[in-house]
Amino acid sequence: MVELQGIPVSPGVAIGPALVLDPDGYRIPRVFVAAAKADEEYARLREAVDLVAKRIADNRDETSAVAGDLTGDIFAAQLQMLHDPRLHAELGRRIRSQNQSAAYAVNRVLHDFAAALKQLDNPLLAERSQDVLDIEKQLLFELGAVSAQPLSDLTHTTVVLAHNLTPSETANLDRNFVHGFCTETGGPGGHTAIVAKGLELPAVVGIGNFIEDVNNGDTVIIDGDRGIVIISPDEETLAHYTRRLEERNSLSQRLSQLRDLPGETADGTRIRLSANIEFPHETESCIERGADGIGLYRTEFLYLSSLDEPSEEDHYQAYSQVVREMKGRPVVLRTLDLGADKMGHRPLAEHEHNPFLGLRSIRLSLRNLDLFRPQLRAVLRAAAHGDIRVMFPLITTIAELRQARMLLNLVAEDLKEEGIEYRSDIPVGMMVEVPAAVVMLDKFVGEVDFLSIGTNDLAQYTLAVDRSNEYVADLYQSCDPAVLRLIARCVEVADQSNTPLAVCGEMSSKPSRALLLIGMGVRNLSVPPSTLPRVKKAIRSVTITQCQEIAARVMNLEAARDIDMYLQDRLEDLVPELVVS
Ligand code: PEP
Ligand code: MG
Repeated sequence: MVELQGIPVSPGVAIGPALVLDPDGYRIPRVFVAAAKADEEYARLREAVDLVAKRIADNRDETSAVAGDLTGDIFAAQLQMLHDPRLHAELGRRIRSQNQSAAYAVNRVLHDFAAALKQLDNPLLAERSQDVLDIEKQLLFELGAVSAQPLSDLTHTTVVLAHNLTPSETANLDRNFVHGFCTETGGPGGHTAIVAKGLELPAVVGIGNFIEDVNNGDTVIIDGDRGIVIISPDEETLAHYTRRLEERNSLSQRLSQLRDLPGETADGTRIRLSANIEFPHETESCIERGADGIGLYRTEFLYLSSLDEPSEEDHYQAYSQVVREMKGRPVVLRTLDLGADKMGHRPLAEHEHNPFLGLRSIRLSLRNLDLFRPQLRAVLRAAAHGDIRVMFPLITTIAELRQARMLLNLVAEDLKEEGIEYRSDIPVGMMVEVPAAVVMLDKFVGEVDFLSIGTNDLAQYTLAVDRSNEYVADLYQSCDPAVLRLIARCVEVADQSNTPLAVCGEMSSKPSRALLLIGMGVRNLSVPPSTLPRVKKAIRSVTITQCQEIAARVMNLEAARDIDMYLQDRLEDLVPELVVS
């Protein structure tokens, strides 16, 4: 048995025989064609391009239908790359002037382009290199230079292991047979991860080299919750995961019955349970899981999933869709939180030594009004269709908040002058994710309609721990007593000033921590849609007094580890059904 650790990108458990894909890219031999045949060879390439273009367009349409337009846009971007005139000029030059075979030219040009993208000091562009390799692979297949991967004619259930899976391969996985996948390369923000999540396929990426030692048919377990992959599990492990899979399925079944019941403690304290989304199509799973609204819409994903900068109209369409589909439930739009680890295709800032302490989030938006204005216009326009609220991320100083609010007012005036339909009397809030904002919160509350604590960043900045650095992951604890004291202060100031307060960081999606937050006085939680039923179950199983007792005890503990252990014990006592072994 071998246990490997990777990055969990799509939750769930999958067990099945391995289907190991070609471990590496292609090396096409250097073949030349006679000068007289160059035109013929170029025509063959054009034919291959047409076939691949058709397949990509089909992928785009099918993926849009299943996982929403924004996921489908990944293939729209591939289509654009495939038709890039510079690419065709270079391929034409190699075939016609250098007499290279079409397959060799495709292999060289696209491989080099992918390698160049990969070397750029920008994780998002590096991820894009996978799209280039995807196109290369398909062209080579059409040119007869490589055979297809054995993915199309599956007849039995399987778990896919690959060096890398391209977005189109992921979208084309036959979900009747493929129950999950894991890859040696890849990061959490890549398109493959996005597609996997959209399709709800358990997945782990970025494991490092391992598939050379795995044979087709070996039993593999993918634990997409913990980012673990187990090859050839022993009997005990297999039995454990088989049980977990069954428990998971029957628990989801039972929890789905809570959908129309309110998030309310056993003794009647109402807790509003909203959902965090990145893409408009996720509203469907929010409704399915009974969310009270959208508590955090991470709008920057519109940038991250598209090659072109989104226009005001793109923003407007996305927000209008969300608010329409949420049918009167409130939708909290967070303005662009770009920068640091979330960079679009067009670099918006110069290279920075400490990007997490640099020009990110609201700071970046306020310095790039060409970027910020269209978004704010779209927010106010979409607000004409429903209950939209807006909040600004990473607010550190009062001046930033005032500047952002002023811009919102200016944009409203412009819309009025232009005679465009909009609504400007929307609630305006701020995210509390920087310790300075907590310290000064009594000053901020006079200038906002609501607060939302982003515990992911609040923990990062309080503890001086990079939230995406695996070397200090043990220090990154939202339950650290220092973070809890800051949250307690937020609750106190919010209560005193009668300002609605929510917690939308990942912390609230863990049932045991949600109970702690409720005990501390939080009454609004926003969690990823897939975790909502579990949190609701926990809330409905306890009384407010039990939550308060938990909080009182926790506030006296000194270490995150002790707090976590205590919370886990309490969850086992109070809601044993939710504890997965
Ligand atoms: C947070 O920081 O807790 C948060 C919700 O925002 P994000 O995870 O998008 O930074
Ligand atoms: Mg944040």
